Amino acid sequence: MSIRIPFIAGNWKMFKTKKEALEFVETFKRLYKDTDIKTAICAPFTQLDTLKEALKETEIGVGAQNVHFEDEGAYTGEVSVAMLKEIGVDYCIIGHSERRQYFNETDETVNKKIKKLIAGSEITPILCVGENLEQREAGKEREVVSNQIKADLTGLEASEAAKLVIAYEPIWAIGTGKTATPAQAEEMCALIRETIKQLYDEDTCDKVIIQYGGSVKPENATEIMNMDEIDGALVGGASLVPEKFMGIINF
Ligand code: PGA
Repeated sequence: MSIRIPFIAGNWKMFKTKKEALEFVETFKRLYKDTDIKTAICAPFTQLDTLKEALKETEIGVGAQNVHFEDEGAYTGEVSVAMLKEIGVDYCIIGHSERRQYFNETDETVNKKIKKLIAGSEITPILCVGENLEQREAGKEREVVSNQIKADLTGLEASEAAKLVIAYEPIWAIGTGKTATPAQAEEMCALIRETIKQLYDEDTCDKVIIQYGGSVKPENATEIMNMDEIDGALVGGASLVPEKFMGIINF
């Protein structure tokens, strides 16, 4: 079994101006102690360059929250893989439920974006999957999530799938303060690993980093991070406050 290094990423969503991002980094760097786990901040496009520069002497990675699947073209408002590469971005969130819900992201576009990132860069995709409340109440969460994984990974080789970070984010737990129980999160992360094993093999599913996301905070990070199948967390609200994000990293 391969050793998976825990990975905690912040998702700033559409929060923080450049000034606010720099204020965050100043405090965060003061609090930060060397750790064995990987960390990253996924910020709005306009803050990526600033963050790369401000964090350059640290181990903290920088991520985007979306990318377009074409190389270039008449796609007003979009950003390409080459543009992220030039900045030196390390990660890119793909298929966040807010993008699926408000910006017509589909499994098909998610799949194209992942392929483009893997073929054209060293940028690690953080693929988000997860069911909504209605699907959970109907007992369909396993079916929904395994279907998302199968669709989102269509056409990927095992060696490509092994590079992914996958975040299980039940939509009903995002920004609601309502965290999935560690047992619920563990069950779904195990399902994701099992689905990857069915699609590929044991070695591939052992390598994939699987995060849980949805109202992670310092108070619940330990029990979530202690679960066998959960290798990390994708943190929204709590990643905006240096002390809270650090509390999660130091779980
Ligand atoms: P939250 O967001 O931690 O604020 O629930 C998580 C996410 O959307 O990635």
